[in-house]
Amino acid sequence: MNAKRPLIAVLTGAGISTDSGIPDYRGPQGLWQKDPSAQELVTIGPYLEDPEVRRRAWRMRLETGALGAEPNAGHRALVDLERSGLPLRVLTQNIDGLHQRSGLTARKVLELHGNVRETQCLRCRVVGSMADALERVGAGEPDPACRECGGILKPRIVMFGENLDPEVLGQADSVVRVGDVFIAVGTSLQVFPVAGLPYNAVRTGAKLIIVNGEPTPYDEAAAEVIREPISQALPKLVRRLVLERA
Ligand code: ZN
Repeated sequence: MNAKRPLIAVLTGAGISTDSGIPDYRGPQGLWQKDPSAQELVTIGPYLEDPEVRRRAWRMRLETGALGAEPNAGHRALVDLERSGLPLRVLTQNIDGLHQRSGLTARKVLELHGNVRETQCLRCRVVGSMADALERVGAGEPDPACRECGGILKPRIVMFGENLDPEVLGQADSVVRVGDVFIAVGTSLQVFPVAGLPYNAVRTGAKLIIVNGEPTPYDEAAAEVIREPISQALPKLVRRLVLERA
């Protein structure tokens, strides 16, 4: 059995970043589900097999400028929560790096789907910077290869058709089993294995709080469901938690 400790686990999904101008790509209602030709750009099979898919994927990243997005009040609320001194871990399905950019301590953030700030070579696994790769695309290399070995580069994200990193998922699960509060923010909680995290939280006795515009399969199991927009709801919730637990 796991002993519960005063640790707040926060799972964040696409909803926390929409106020930063980043659309929901990946969720059940996300853009990638609605547009198969866009989904191809982040599906490992076509990405590996078809150089034209890779060229489109790099162009899309260059044009959408996701690296330029700024954190919003929802991200900053979690920084306030950390600074209050309450033990906190953030588990995120987002690949935008906005939690770290907002000032949250990097080691307290687990990126379940990786991140777009880095690239990885599919042959030698070397990690590089997305900014460097996009600079090469802008300078006329439509499908920049690994500088070490010539292998195919991809953003260091979990693509469709790839499994989540079992080590990262295992760490997330441990956090969830230990934490006495689990807050799910801006995530539909419909896509496994991440959708298994709130299940394990509740099963081990954590208090579940859901902040999401749409219903989730866990609403009935939650102690509290908040439907307000996240960038308004999260600062309020954080202030309340800090007062309650001070
Ligand atoms: Zn390589």
